[in-house]
Amino acid sequence: MARTVVITGSTSGIGLGIAAGFAKAGENIMLNGFGSEAEIAEAVAALEKLGAASVAYHPADMTKPDEIADLIATAGKTFGGVDILVNNAGIQYVSAIEDFPADKWDRIIAINLTSSYHTIHHAVPLMKKAGSGRIINVVSAHGLVASPFKSAYVAAKHGMMGLTKTVALELAQQSITVNAICPGYVLTPLVERQIPDTAKARGLTEEQVKTDVLLAAQPTKQFVTVEQIAAAALYLASDAASQITGTHISIDGGWTAQ
Ligand code: NAD
Repeated sequence: MARTVVITGSTSGIGLGIAAGFAKAGENIMLNGFGSEAEIAEAVAALEKLGAASVAYHPADMTKPDEIADLIATAGKTFGGVDILVNNAGIQYVSAIEDFPADKWDRIIAINLTSSYHTIHHAVPLMKKAGSGRIINVVSAHGLVASPFKSAYVAAKHGMMGLTKTVALELAQQSITVNAICPGYVLTPLVERQIPDTAKARGLTEEQVKTDVLLAAQPTKQFVTVEQIAAAALYLASDAASQITGTHISIDGGWTAQ
């Protein structure tokens, strides 16, 4: 029987790549994230074509607790439960701490950290009722190490590592695993968007930001792909990974080995 996968922020980048991976495996997919009606219809059709059992979309804004509650409740009602929850929605803002606007700080903490409290809080009762579950948090190398000018992002992502470990311990005897995936740089719209800001903050050209800043941290000198992250998510959702909990898989070209 098809399992049900809820993926926050899955209309673009890594989330959409993870949705494609689970679609190929024939699962039910609950998409979420921003986008025009046409973009969302296109993503739904593409996932159906890849082999998803069924695809639904919910527009919950990850800054709005009521909408997040409705996302999980709707997935439960539509598909009969939530087997796999992928907390992936995330945004970035690059600025020196003294110039960092308070509203940007609050928004990053809300989307990159607090939204996962809400999704997990509502999904765990459904998983307990089903007797199993998988929670996969798309964190970052920035959940393990820092870079300058990304204070809110690094703080939120370090918070996600703490949330991952704590909830894993709470659910260890309920056949529900909780893990993080910590990617290095993946060339998605999120990274493309921060190149001009990083260039400004560091006084570099955009090409220099790609080679000397982004890939400077990544010893392989190659960007990670969304397909590689989807493969790790599928593995964490498999029976083979039932004893992996409260930890992370780094996919960062050696970044955090340094
Ligand atoms: P992206 O910008 O391509 O996609 C982000 C997704 O989140 C989109 O679907 C967007 O609509 C959605 N989103 C944004 N704000 C939202 C909100 N308020 N409510 C609901 N959805 C919202 O970004 P990405 O690079 O695919 O990043 C996905 C995740 O991976 C993020 O958590 C990011 O921190 C993490 N990550 C990315 C990289 C990278 O190099 N791209 C590296 C490590 C970790």
